[in-house]
Amino acid sequence: MKITVIGTGYVGLVSGACLAEVGNDVLCLDLDQEKIRVLETGGIPIYEPGLQDMVQRNVAAGRLHFTTDVARAVQHGTLQFIAVGTPPDEDGSADMQYVLAAARNIGRLMTDYKVVVNKSTVPVGTADKVHAAIADELRQRGAQTPYAVVSNPEFLKEGAAVEDFMRPDRIIVGASDERAILLMRALYAPFQRNRDRLVVTDARSAELTKYAANAMLATRISFMNELANLAEKLGADIEMVRQGMGSDPRIGYHFLYPGCGYGGSCFPKDVKALIKTAAADAGLNLKVLTAVEDANAAQKHVLGHKIKQRLGEDLSGRHFAVWGLAFKPNTDDMREAPSLELLADLLAAGATVTAYDPVAMSEAQRVLGDEPRIRYAQTPNEALEGADALVIVTEWKEFRSPDFELLKARLKQPLIVDGRNLYDPAWVRSQGFDYLAIGR
Ligand code: NAD
Repeated sequence: MKITVIGTGYVGLVSGACLAEVGNDVLCLDLDQEKIRVLETGGIPIYEPGLQDMVQRNVAAGRLHFTTDVARAVQHGTLQFIAVGTPPDEDGSADMQYVLAAARNIGRLMTDYKVVVNKSTVPVGTADKVHAAIADELRQRGAQTPYAVVSNPEFLKEGAAVEDFMRPDRIIVGASDERAILLMRALYAPFQRNRDRLVVTDARSAELTKYAANAMLATRISFMNELANLAEKLGADIEMVRQGMGSDPRIGYHFLYPGCGYGGSCFPKDVKALIKTAAADAGLNLKVLTAVEDANAAQKHVLGHKIKQRLGEDLSGRHFAVWGLAFKPNTDDMREAPSLELLADLLAAGATVTAYDPVAMSEAQRVLGDEPRIRYAQTPNEALEGADALVIVTEWKEFRSPDFELLKARLKQPLIVDGRNLYDPAWVRSQGFDYLAIGR
């Protein structure tokens, strides 16, 4: 099939590469010339395990191309995937300008049948708006080219995006046009060979499913974070509680980990957008999700609080080693990362920091700018030198079993503040450390 993917970010580039991998002829469009230049010269602009190899393989096979030429992109694909960003607007609702601009481009330039597939996370009713925007463009130039709009939200996880796209748990197709549904079934058949995972819904239900899923996951995290704070006060261990809870199959072990708050490009923005949509479009106050958001905002300061409780409110002259900057392991994405709040708390209290992250350091430097109080280390151990404490923010695998002897030798004092509960407290304490974790 001939496919155009509009937007080559985490979702667009992964979708484009995976669709090419199974034999499709894919053209990826982005307005960001630098991104396209990097892609055309064999690089990739983001870190995502397995993606670079897949992109290079499919470019070499002639199935994957990149362009900034909108007319060429609209001409190319019968399927036009919209995978542009939907960042929060000033009031927290999803900013639809990029999705609607992409839709208008399609309407303005299409000359044959198109199926416009919306992969971006968008508020309920967007498929209708995309449909109307295209109709408006066609009307303006007196054209009557046929088209359909499909809502096909993406559920991939950054850090496992290629794997998720190639082996999806489910594929939601929100559409009413039979021809478009048939095309979507054919398109996704290679990704679900052992059983049918495609769920056909109406467009509005598809749009809401994506927000509902992310809101549910964010709720589990905030719920566990609140319980962790309670467990700490009551002298219970949240890790034991978590295992006891998770063994109930109605609850399950997944996504039940307490920590220092959720971040990333999706949960914070999608929870906000759902709260806004509910208030603006339905007059509903989503009380549970409002609490989820509040709890998360507070949780992002939990590490800063713990450090100040131990070392005092004034941290001038103190130096900290920070392990992990990305909002989660296996990504370089720094959007809404809890590390940003921690760093702000430490700097505001007068401290300096040496940070280490296996892949997110250049992205962190870009986001944090030229900040002389933050240095970056080349190895986790280098970051420790002369620090008053080690603070762990992201649970990269390489942090799971450190050399505690070496840690103690390099740190100025044996204090570990662990935002991800990586270690057994009894073991770490037996190694002579003061160990502050979450909810235990
Ligand atoms: P991103 O910011 O990484 O990438 C978006 C890209 O779209 C950018 O490169 C931008 O230059 C490009 N763009 C914007 N307007 C354009 C236009 N008119 N024509 C061509 N290109 C244009 O975003 P992302 O993280 O890939 O997310 C995209 C959407 O998918 C969002 O709605 C997001 O909520 C959703 N989503 C993201 C994830 C994730 O893990 N990142 C997962 C599922 C769904």
